[in-house]
Amino acid sequence: MSEIQMVDLTTQYNRIKVEIDNAIQEVLSTGKFIKGPQVKQFEENLARYLEVKHVIGCANGTDALQIAMMALGLKEGDEVITASFTYVATAEVIALLRLKPVLVEVNSATFTIDPEAIEKAITEKTKAIVPVHLFGQCADMEAIMKIAAKYNLAVIEDTAQAIGADYFFSDGSSKKAGTIGTIGTTSFFPSKNLGCFGDGGAIFTNDDALEKKIRMIANHGQSVQYVHDEIGVNSRLDTLQAAVLDIKLKYLDDYAARRRNVADYYDQVFMDLKNIQIPVRSPNSTHVFHQYTLQLRNVNRNELREKLAEAGVPSMIYYPIPLHLQNAYKDDRYEQGAFPITEALSDCVLSLPIHTEFTEEGLRYIAETVKKMIG
Ligand SMILES: *Cc1c(COP(=O)(O)O)cnc(C)c1O
Repeated sequence: MSEIQMVDLTTQYNRIKVEIDNAIQEVLSTGKFIKGPQVKQFEENLARYLEVKHVIGCANGTDALQIAMMALGLKEGDEVITASFTYVATAEVIALLRLKPVLVEVNSATFTIDPEAIEKAITEKTKAIVPVHLFGQCADMEAIMKIAAKYNLAVIEDTAQAIGADYFFSDGSSKKAGTIGTIGTTSFFPSKNLGCFGDGGAIFTNDDALEKKIRMIANHGQSVQYVHDEIGVNSRLDTLQAAVLDIKLKYLDDYAARRRNVADYYDQVFMDLKNIQIPVRSPNSTHVFHQYTLQLRNVNRNELREKLAEAGVPSMIYYPIPLHLQNAYKDDRYEQGAFPITEALSDCVLSLPIHTEFTEEGLRYIAETVKKMIG
């Protein structure tokens, strides 16, 4: 059996190597490395897939969040509400823009931001909410959009971990993750569900005026060449990355199905183990399983991880230290104990390998090894 990895990008590439290599070769032979035709083509194809009016490529998922906040015209001191249990990028850009990050608690079952906690945190200075579709399923968008409408707030969906997931409204209609709020953002970091061969990101919106503003900000605040209407950034999706992504987009639904099959397999092996809580699937969202994250009960997590590693099974902790306990984000408002659910999750979560390329043998080995050690 080959070495088990958290994510197997090499096998995934090898399955579509000819297509990818041809697409890369085409970029190399035209030399249009910046703003080549593949960028526009991928933006259009992704917009069609997501059923959203505009997709704007950029350099990475963190820039996507930053540009989204700049495009909304948020000003120093404005408050932006986001989840306490997330990857640092979300809070980082809020702080970088000198906005005020307001953290709120998450739902202990789905790991996504708690709408009731959002409403409690709203003040006169609140301007935006940033829900994160953590680990591959959507936050409770219907409730979040209702709150946003009631208080006239913008919503930026951080879709870096959930591209392709469907959210279902109570009237039975559905929309793709990232196309429900004012703006959606995503990352094409290689290990994300739609990953390129380096850094990449994108911004989605149905609003024509925002699209113009986003394109301008991502391009040095430039309206016409050498005319700068506001301060912008330099954040582009490379042509090479767009060419790769345009091929991989065709396989995105297949990739999600493969991840879901892995999750279904793990679920069935772990379901009855009393020391494991398997991932809870939201009734309002499909799950694209960017991560397969267990909650452990009465298990020494570090010891388990060491034993798993000795048996050749890697595992990860997403995320070991909540934002409010990170040195960079220490704040008098939030002490230890401020977010009990988030703190408990940081202590008990464990993510297992999940990707699109497992053999049955490899998958069975991981599941049985975990079961033997915890069961
Ligand atoms: C990966 C990720 C980002 C940042 O994406 P980069 O492309 O690495 O900048 C932002 N938010 C979340 C939730 C992520 O998982």
